[in-house]
Formats: sequence, structure tokens, C-alpha cells
Amino acid sequence: MIITDNHMHIYKHLKLKALEQFKQAGGTHVLLVSLLAHHYDVFPKSGKDFVKVFEEHLNVVRKANKIVKAYAVLGVHPAEITVLGSRLGFERAAEIMKEALTIAGEYVAKGEAIALKSGRPHYRVDAHVWRLSNEVMKHAFELAKEIGCAIQIHTESYNYDMGVEIAKIADEVGLRRDKVVKHFSPPKVKEFEEIGIFPSVLAGDDKVLTAAKEGDRFVLETDYIDDPKRPGAVLGPKTVPKKVKELVEHGFGEDFIYKICKENIEKLYGVEL
Ligand SMILES: [Zn+2]
Repeated sequence: MIITDNHMHIYKHLKLKALEQFKQAGGTHVLLVSLLAHHYDVFPKSGKDFVKVFEEHLNVVRKANKIVKAYAVLGVHPAEITVLGSRLGFERAAEIMKEALTIAGEYVAKGEAIALKSGRPHYRVDAHVWRLSNEVMKHAFELAKEIGCAIQIHTESYNYDMGVEIAKIADEVGLRRDKVVKHFSPPKVKEFEEIGIFPSVLAGDDKVLTAAKEGDRFVLETDYIDDPKRPGAVLGPKTVPKKVKELVEHGFGEDFIYKICKENIEKLYGVEL
């Protein structure tokens, strides 16, 4: 059985052991997402400084591929606006983020990564920073449109109105709504289908079962962050395989699992699992 985690990080806690655990639990495929620059001891002054971040991440993904099939997602975490902005000013931070996203897009175009990541802060920021963040995200949407790739977005908590707002930003640049993957989604499968953006459902509690009862248009993630200060956060690396097996126990067949863990991933990212 193919079991895919759509959003995980490897950083400095369990490191590749997290993927050993994922594999032991039945996991086969994973999308590994790059973190904030400071996680790689990079303190960028320009977009180009993110090359080191991306190269290091790609290196981790290469090692990960010895354990399971791993794909790279490259991008700029939306919280960089605060981190970089406090040091360099927010306008400059936004410029750097856009430059870095353009570089990330080049890796995707070359086939070294399968998707971009962007978004906007999940915490309150002032109107100026909010506007800049939306500009950065829109730039990332433009890149995704040009390259023809999917984009994972990290944003404030989902609600219907924000979902529609994000979808409209995609429309403005001609990016297909179903190429926008909302990371950290609640299991509102029908609502996402109506709006058109694609949910990556956080696999905790009974959310996988709740999602499955609404349909099969979703993927699953743990957002495992591999941080020694928050071990097991957001969810542990075994969670997706465990929850997928629970689905089977609840009567969801192999076809259903195939759809969420293989076909949906293939369609979103243009890969063959
Ligand atoms: Zn994450």
C-alpha cells in the first residue's frame, strides 16, 4: 500500500530516524518542506542567500530517499517577513522573499523540487506587513502559474471566507485553484471542493475519518517539525500511516487509500509514485 505524508520537516531532533519510524509504521512516500532560513544558520541579506537553504534541504531529501521515496518542496516561510523585517525593514524583507521564491521556482522548473511553498503569517501583523505578505504570496502564485507547479500555502487558520479570498488571488494571476494546497487544513473536504483549493488535512484525532466521510479529494500530513524543543509536534512521523490503517479498519477500501495517497498526489504535483 502507498501511504504518503504531504508535509513533513526534517530538522534536528530525530532527523532521518523520523523517516525510519514513518517507514516502519507503513509510510512509503513523503514531501519534505524547507524551513525558515535560521534553521540552517543562514541569516539572509539577499534572495540569493536562500540558495544555501535550498541546497541544504535538497541534500536532506537526497539522504531521505535512501529510506522512503522523498520529494522536496522549496519555498519561503511566511514568518520570514517578521524575522527578516525586524533586521532589514519590512519592504526589503518582502523583496528578499520574492527573490528567494524566484530561485526556488528555478529548482522546481529543473525538477529538483516538486512544488513551491509560500503563504502569509498565521499570527496577527499590522496592515503594512499584511499587505506586503499578500504581495509575496501573489508573486509565488505567479511563479507557480508560470512553472505549472503546485504551491503549498501556510496561512492563518482556515475558514470559508479566507479560502475564497485565497482562491481569488490565484484567479487574479491565472493559477488554477486546485494547484493551491492549503497546508494544515481542517477536514472540510466538501467545502474545499466547492471553493476549489486543495486541502492537506492535518491527520490528528479523528480528522482523517471525518475527512474520509466527506469524500476523497484531500491529502494527509503531520507537519512533523522535528524540533527538539517540541518533540512529536505538530504530529509524530507515524501518524499518517496509523490513521490510514484506521481508515481501512473502518471499511474504507484500498481504492480509497490509493486515491488519497497516490492519485491525488500525482495529480497535484505531476509526479508518478
Ligand atoms: Zn510545516
